[in-house]
Amino acid sequence: MKTKLVILGSLTCIGLLSSCQVQKNPTARIPMENKQDHSPFQYYATVPLTTDISHLSENEKTILGLMFKAADIMDDLFWQQAYGAKIDIVDGLQGETLNYVKINYGPWDRLDNEKPFLPNFGAKPAGAMFYPTDITKDEFEKANLKDGKSPYTLVKRNREGQLYTVPYHVNYKNQLQNAAGLLSKASELAEDAGLKNYLLLRAAALLNDDFYASDLAWMDMKNSNLDLVIGPIENYEDQLFGYKSAYSAYVLVKDVEWSKRLEKFVKYLPELQRNLPVDAAYKKEVPGTDSDLNAYDVVYYAGDCNAAGKTIAINLPNDERVQLEKGTRRLQLKNAMKAKFDKILVPIATSLIVEEQQKNIQFDAFFSNVMFHEVAHGLGIKNTLDGKGSVRDALKEAYSALEEGKADILGLYMVNQLLNKGELTGSKEDYFVTFLAGIFRSVRFGGSVTKVGD
Ligand SMILES: [Zn+2]
Repeated sequence: MKTKLVILGSLTCIGLLSSCQVQKNPTARIPMENKQDHSPFQYYATVPLTTDISHLSENEKTILGLMFKAADIMDDLFWQQAYGAKIDIVDGLQGETLNYVKINYGPWDRLDNEKPFLPNFGAKPAGAMFYPTDITKDEFEKANLKDGKSPYTLVKRNREGQLYTVPYHVNYKNQLQNAAGLLSKASELAEDAGLKNYLLLRAAALLNDDFYASDLAWMDMKNSNLDLVIGPIENYEDQLFGYKSAYSAYVLVKDVEWSKRLEKFVKYLPELQRNLPVDAAYKKEVPGTDSDLNAYDVVYYAGDCNAAGKTIAINLPNDERVQLEKGTRRLQLKNAMKAKFDKILVPIATSLIVEEQQKNIQFDAFFSNVMFHEVAHGLGIKNTLDGKGSVRDALKEAYSALEEGKADILGLYMVNQLLNKGELTGSKEDYFVTFLAGIFRSVRFGGSVTKVGD
């Protein structure tokens, strides 16, 4: 019997239902009070996050509970970074308006260029609450603050009007101590050595903003059933400079069976590289086979990663020192992918794919296509043949679009090869038709390049 874990209080909105709707009515912003047909809330689907926890030990189940509590603290810290005190805005709101404020972590619509959707609010400050709201770029540059560009400091203004910085671990001390306490407790209970070590180091990192050792420990954590991405992770919320990291947490349960499938394919990487249909010179580099590719169910998104649409794949850590030393881990979030498949891909396919091919729209094919897209990023060459530097630098602003396009089509090429070898099951039609429908899903993101993980 499968035990279902239903996440209390975290019905998660998984993303846009269809941006065609958004684009048809780009300016039709009906006030929230008049919400019959045009509430922006309609662009989100509500999805319960569930997973099978029957294989978890009693300790692991207790650890999950501690992880939720620590994640809740990250959620509160992100509120402070994105808007201010949550209580000030949610008090007195209800229904869809309250839900929409929670989805956006404030009164600004993340689907509509951060325009305010509540009365009495002006534009969102570009630097969110990482900086004083009246700061200018020029003022910041001239101030030349100590640790001003650090991802882990807040910039504030004193009574005399001068700027100064405060480290996160000082500013948010009490809450971070609580979070660290929860992680330490979880570490004590952990049976997996990798998880135990990571949780302990992560607890310490939250208290001094030095995440390096815990990032390395996270890279070494190969066998744990549970995972927790926690801390200040991405810099997107700082639209002023992109310097400041926002607090975020994912609580994850490994899908052992699907992870085994992924493990198998990582071993084929060198062979797939050799078989690329290009001149030998373009496949000289040997792709690493120690890259970590696993499938998880995400059971809780909190803070930054929970604002607006949800990601379906994680590629971390961001610290380049750790990347050079140990690479990155790629986590496929299977239940979130399934939700996007059901709520976005299938409706798109229903209206755009001919009827006799509707049967070829399959989740397994979608999952594999996304997975091979990720794998394909690791193939090819990273440095140009003339020895002048990296492909990334040579292609400049075209790099991202070409690299994503490469990953898309090379992923499908690998699917084809593995099908021919009999290493992959399913019909070719499933992979190709689902791929096509997937392209329609991705193009909704518009001209700016977006990863498949979105
Ligand atoms: Zn990609």
